[in-house]
Amino acid sequence: MSTASEYIESVLEGLKVRNPGELEFQEAVVGVLDSLAPVLEQHPEYQEAAILERIVEPERAVHFRVPWVDDEGKTHVNRGYRFQFNSALGPYKGGLRFHPTVSASIVKFLGFEQIFKNALTGQQIGGGKGGADFDPHGRSDQEIMRFCQSFMTGLFRHIGHFTDIPAGDIGVGGREIGYLFGQYKKLANGFEAGVLTGKGLDWGGSLIRTEATGYGLVAFTREMLKTRGEDFEGQTVSVSGSGNVAIYSIEKLQQLGAKPVTISDSSGWVYDADGIDLELLKDIKEVKRGRVADYVAARPNAELHTDGSIWSVPVDVALPCATQHELNGEDARTLIKNGVKAVGEGANMPTDAEGVEVFEASDVLYGPGKAANAGGVAVSALEMQQNSARQSWTREDVAQRLDDIMVNIHAQCVDASERYAGNSSDYVTGSNAAGFVKVADAMLAQGVL
Ligand code: NDP
Repeated sequence: MSTASEYIESVLEGLKVRNPGELEFQEAVVGVLDSLAPVLEQHPEYQEAAILERIVEPERAVHFRVPWVDDEGKTHVNRGYRFQFNSALGPYKGGLRFHPTVSASIVKFLGFEQIFKNALTGQQIGGGKGGADFDPHGRSDQEIMRFCQSFMTGLFRHIGHFTDIPAGDIGVGGREIGYLFGQYKKLANGFEAGVLTGKGLDWGGSLIRTEATGYGLVAFTREMLKTRGEDFEGQTVSVSGSGNVAIYSIEKLQQLGAKPVTISDSSGWVYDADGIDLELLKDIKEVKRGRVADYVAARPNAELHTDGSIWSVPVDVALPCATQHELNGEDARTLIKNGVKAVGEGANMPTDAEGVEVFEASDVLYGPGKAANAGGVAVSALEMQQNSARQSWTREDVAQRLDDIMVNIHAQCVDASERYAGNSSDYVTGSNAAGFVKVADAMLAQGVL
C-alpha cells in the first residue's frame, strides 16, 4: 500500500485528468485532501476502500436547459445544474446559486465543500449544490418568477424531501424560494414542505433561517476569540458583501458590541468609520434592491471606493461574506500587518490558496467557511425537522439550537486539530478532518456504492 501522502497525490492527479479546466473544483479538493494525510495514516481502511476516489466523484450530476422569456418577449437560455455529491449521512442538501459566473466547476467546488460542512453540523444531511448562470440583477419580479418556474421544471424530478433538498445561496433568497416552491408544488401535485428550505414563515419556513449564516458566523468567530480570552465587545470589524450573510453578520456583531465598518457589492466597497447603519443597509439591499453607492448617498461621512481593497482597512476581525477568491495573499498580508486577530469566512472559499497559506503561517485565528458558515445549513436542517413534525419552534428556541451547533462545530474543530495537527488552533485541518471522518465512516458502513 502506498503512503498516505502518495495516495493523496495519486487521487489529486486523477482528479485533474478527470476534471480538466475545473480550477475552482480542483482547488476545493486540494484544500481538503492536503490536510488529510494524518487522518489516512491513522485509518488505512479508508485507502483500502477507495474512499478518496469515491468522495471526489459526485454520486449524480444533473445539467439542464433553462429557457425563459423576458418582459420584452425575448427568449433566453441559461444552464441549470445540480450536483448531488454525497448521501452517506442523509439526503443531499445545499443551496442554489443564480449568478453569471456559475459553471460546473463552481457548483462542484461548492457541492464538495458542502459534504464536510453538513457533516460538521451533526445533522443527517448529505452534500449537494446547484444553480444557474443567470444574472438576476435588473430583472423584474415577473422575469425572476418565469426564470424560477423554468428552472424548477428542469429540476423537480431530481429532488424530494428524502432525496435532495435545495435552499438559497447567492442570488437566491426568499422571493426566489417562493417561486421555486410554487412551481414544485404544482408539478408534484402536493404540498411537500420539506423539499426546499428558506421558505416563508407562513408556509413552512423557520424563524432565524434568514439570519442563520451571519449569526452562526459571528458565534463561531466569537468561540475562536474566546480561546485567546477575547470577545467582540469594542472590536472593529470589516465585513464584505451586502447580501444575506453580510447583513445578519453585521446585525449580530452590533448586538455583541462590535463595530462593523465596511460593506461591499460588485460595484465597489464602503468604509463607514462611524459604523455601518444597519437599518439603512437593510432598506437599500432588502427592500429597494439598490447598490452600495445608495448607502453612501445617504451617509455623507461614509467613503465609496471603486478600486483598492476592502481589506486595507485596519480592523481587529475580518469577515469576508461576498464570494469566492475575494481575499488574496496580499490582502492577507495587509490584514496581518494591520493587526487583525481573527478571520471568519462567511462566504465559501473567499480566501484564495495563497491567502490561506499566509493566514496558516501566522498566529491569526483563521476559521474556514466550511466550519464558520455552517449555521445556514444547520438551521435549514432544523427547518426540515419542523416540517416533518408539522411544528414551528420559537425564535429563542431556534437561536439557542443554532448557537449550540456553532459551539459544537468549534469544539469538533479544536479536538480534530489537536488530534491530527498537534495544536488546537489549526481550524483548516480540524474542520476537514472532523467532517471527513464522519462521512468516511458512514461510507465504509454502507458498502461500495
Ligand atoms: P447574496 O446574494 O445575498 O449576497 C451576495 C453579496 O456578495 C452581494 O453583496 C453581492 O454583490 C456580492 N457578490 C457576489 N458576487 C460577487 C462578485 N463576483 N464580486 C463582488 N461582489 C460579489 O448571497 P449570500 O449573502 O447568501 O452569500 C454570500 C456568500 O456566503 C456566498 O459565498 C455563499 O455561498 C455563502 N454562503 C451563504 C449561505 C446562505 O445561507 N445564504 C450559507 C453559507 C454560505 P452584487 O449584488 O453586486 O452581486
